[in-house]
Amino acid sequence: MSSPKWHSLQSADVLQRLDSSLTGLTIEQAKKRLIEYGHNAIIQKKRRSLLFILLGQFSDFMIIVLLVAAVISGFLGELQDTIAILVIVLLNAIIGTGQEYRAERAVAALRKMAAPDAHVLRDTNEVTIDTIELVPGDIVMLEAGNIVPADLRLLEEEDLQVDESALTGESSAIEKQTEPLVNTELAIGDRLNLVFKSSMITRGRGKGVVVASGMETEIGQIAGLLQDETNVKTPLQTRLSRFGRYLALAVLAICIMVFVVGLLQGQPILLMFLTSVSLGVAAIPEALPAVVTISLALGARKLIRHNALVRNLPAVETLGSVTYICTDKTGTLTQNLMTAELFYAAGELRKAMPESEASIPWTELGQAMALNNDIMVKDGKPAGEPTELALFEAAHMAGFDKSILEQAKPRIAVIAFDSQRKQMTTLHQTSDVVTAYIKGAPEKVLQQCIQGLNNDGATAFEVATVLAEATQLASKGYRVLAFAKREFNRLPDPLEADVVERELTFLGLVALIDPPRPEVPKAVNDCLTASIIPVMITGDHPGTAFAIAQRLGIIDDDSAMLSGDQLAKIPDEEFSRLVDTIRVYARVTPEQKLRIVKALQEKGEFVAMTGDGVNDAPALKRASIGVAMGLKGTDVAREASDMVLLDDDFSSIVRAIRSGRRTFDNIRKFIKYTLSSNFGEILTLFLAPFFGLPIPLLPIHILWINLVTDGLPGLALTTEPAEPNIMNRAPTPPKESIFSHGMWQHIIWVGLFIGGISIATMAWAISRDLVYWQTMVFTVLTVSQLFHALAVRSNSTSLLRTGLFSNLPMLGAFLLTLLLQMVVIYTPVLNTIFHTQPLPMADLAVCMFISSLILFAVEIEKWLIRRGVIYA
Ligand code: ATP
Repeated sequence: MSSPKWHSLQSADVLQRLDSSLTGLTIEQAKKRLIEYGHNAIIQKKRRSLLFILLGQFSDFMIIVLLVAAVISGFLGELQDTIAILVIVLLNAIIGTGQEYRAERAVAALRKMAAPDAHVLRDTNEVTIDTIELVPGDIVMLEAGNIVPADLRLLEEEDLQVDESALTGESSAIEKQTEPLVNTELAIGDRLNLVFKSSMITRGRGKGVVVASGMETEIGQIAGLLQDETNVKTPLQTRLSRFGRYLALAVLAICIMVFVVGLLQGQPILLMFLTSVSLGVAAIPEALPAVVTISLALGARKLIRHNALVRNLPAVETLGSVTYICTDKTGTLTQNLMTAELFYAAGELRKAMPESEASIPWTELGQAMALNNDIMVKDGKPAGEPTELALFEAAHMAGFDKSILEQAKPRIAVIAFDSQRKQMTTLHQTSDVVTAYIKGAPEKVLQQCIQGLNNDGATAFEVATVLAEATQLASKGYRVLAFAKREFNRLPDPLEADVVERELTFLGLVALIDPPRPEVPKAVNDCLTASIIPVMITGDHPGTAFAIAQRLGIIDDDSAMLSGDQLAKIPDEEFSRLVDTIRVYARVTPEQKLRIVKALQEKGEFVAMTGDGVNDAPALKRASIGVAMGLKGTDVAREASDMVLLDDDFSSIVRAIRSGRRTFDNIRKFIKYTLSSNFGEILTLFLAPFFGLPIPLLPIHILWINLVTDGLPGLALTTEPAEPNIMNRAPTPPKESIFSHGMWQHIIWVGLFIGGISIATMAWAISRDLVYWQTMVFTVLTVSQLFHALAVRSNSTSLLRTGLFSNLPMLGAFLLTLLLQMVVIYTPVLNTIFHTQPLPMADLAVCMFISSLILFAVEIEKWLIRRGVIYA
């Protein structure tokens, strides 16, 4: 069935056809329609099934070679060996599958949490629901900053402008209307009474009825274009896979050598083939990129506890590199709990707003405060933007009731607030005049005032005096708003700011206080010790900005402050010289935020930038980490960000950075551990023949070591708590090699050490003609890796200080793996399968002692690091 031409129908007709009404659908109707029409979602790529992930584990080339070799050798020799190998490979695959599946689920859960909400009428009540639950017929409320959740036919609109570039590529904002359009064959961009899913509301507000949801929407029909969710690799993963390829080549070369040397020693060809392929499988760290994803996904889950929702996984990794946090003031550094504290009218400053009938100037100011806002009363409670709420409430307390006043002076139009003009106007009709009330930043409003008001009416007015008063209040940390009015005979046409907001009569000033968040000074201090520079970027007055920034410890001298006007006059080269000295930017526009990020990035800084409005989106996108506000932020800002702060709190960014640093540290520890262990295994097998010794291990031993040591202890490293000095060191430069700070040196010497003690144990056991020499090497190789895992838990802090119990999963992994090793050595069935022999207690003790040497060796390394002797 082709859908009706919604744009050419009257709105009543639209509602009737959709079997809906202005009061919305009932919950029952919505439920039924959800079943009938499905979720309002663009269908994404199917998620991989568990089986698919499991099969994926066997797609690795080396694993396939190993399986084929094992099967061939089974037919030619001992079938039991083959089965054991297959079982271990299968176990490995199951663990890998579990990990990948968990990571996928965590990522999917994150994505779900980041999904936007929609405001709809259900059972006549305005409720907030998940966008995916929208159905045709739903009545949806829209306001500036929303992303349109479905295709809607507009029923009401007030100054509504929409950016449809996601759909049409046309980036200039389009003014919308509600009247039907005569022409039925209109291009999408010309259907002015429809708004389409994924467009952005850049201004005004509106109400519409859903005419199409999900894949039926215009954007859904071209959904192929949106399938950009290919698995994006994080920068670290990209580097690791490149490194992995080189490493694989090196390992292959060594495997070939082990194979040839074995043959020369007269070993059977198939055994040697299996040995070298097993070594290849064990030593090539093919799981590294997957472990990175898992760690990042788990890191992202932890971040939610710090009220930070990560939208892009790589952000978890890159958080640790942040060198600048450019933050908004209102709501992020302050509580966004505004209270009107001081009032100024007719030349006098008061601590309370006088009652309604006091005098003409005060009455006019009270009326303007009550009328000029977008506050709506919901369930008996006023709701809206905190600045407006504070003004509304102060007026209300003094007896200026918005709803009563609006009966006499109904609002007929509005020129919405925008952060460029920094003011807003509402227009009200009385019998023969239209009154415009204006409120906004004092220096903007006052410039347009031509007269003041006293008890006798209009009077002369001195901009300088009032401006001085406003500046004085701002310097004490107040947010100051100026009020003015103008009367017209009829509604001005065109209804534009330049026409209306001039030749005004000044009414008064109101000073609002917005207390700083109590936890911010500590967070600012944490930033500074972590070599991260916090910078305030605000739309507020320089005086207010400086006072608050000083209280929070962001700035101590006003030479580090720049206003938007000053910034506009500074050429790029000069700004580039200045930018790292500035700590506060005041009265800036969101567009200037982009310039600030760019300038900092050009200097090599890694910038986290917060934002909430539609105009902040470009700066959020450009920033190394864009941070959107969860509470006061718009959908548009959220969509453009890498991370959403659920509580808007600056301290949460700092906590997220700490958590990001920890995740990154733990990934490095995992890499350090795995690569040094693998290197130790390779060296043992490779070097033994050069000392005239036989091949130390059988294939099944190699695979077992790989299974138990990489598995549990390796993963436990990713849960390691943060290092005590984590916020006392400089950020990691994003391009810095992962192997820096002593990592590659560690891998080499630990590999040599583990290889050395294994070969030494072997030589000693063989010299004493112990038949179980192989079991001893096998045990030393396994257990030394366990001790190594304990040792690398911290990069520099001694295990004695870190304590065994501060990472319980690691302690558990250590004990369990040790137990498994004992089972393999001491149970007769497994002795047959693993070709092991029970060790006498004395020799087991020798193995344990030798294995533990690596712990002491690494502790000495850490001691040298602490004293600054090495890797400083
Ligand atoms: P920050 O960038 O620190 O979060 P902000 O977002 O509150 O600050 P804007 O919202 O851009 O900054 O406000 C800038 C200025 O515009 C304010 O200092 C105030 O003078 C004025 N202003 C803010 N809200 C309104 C409003 N609702 N009506 C009129 N003027 C306003």
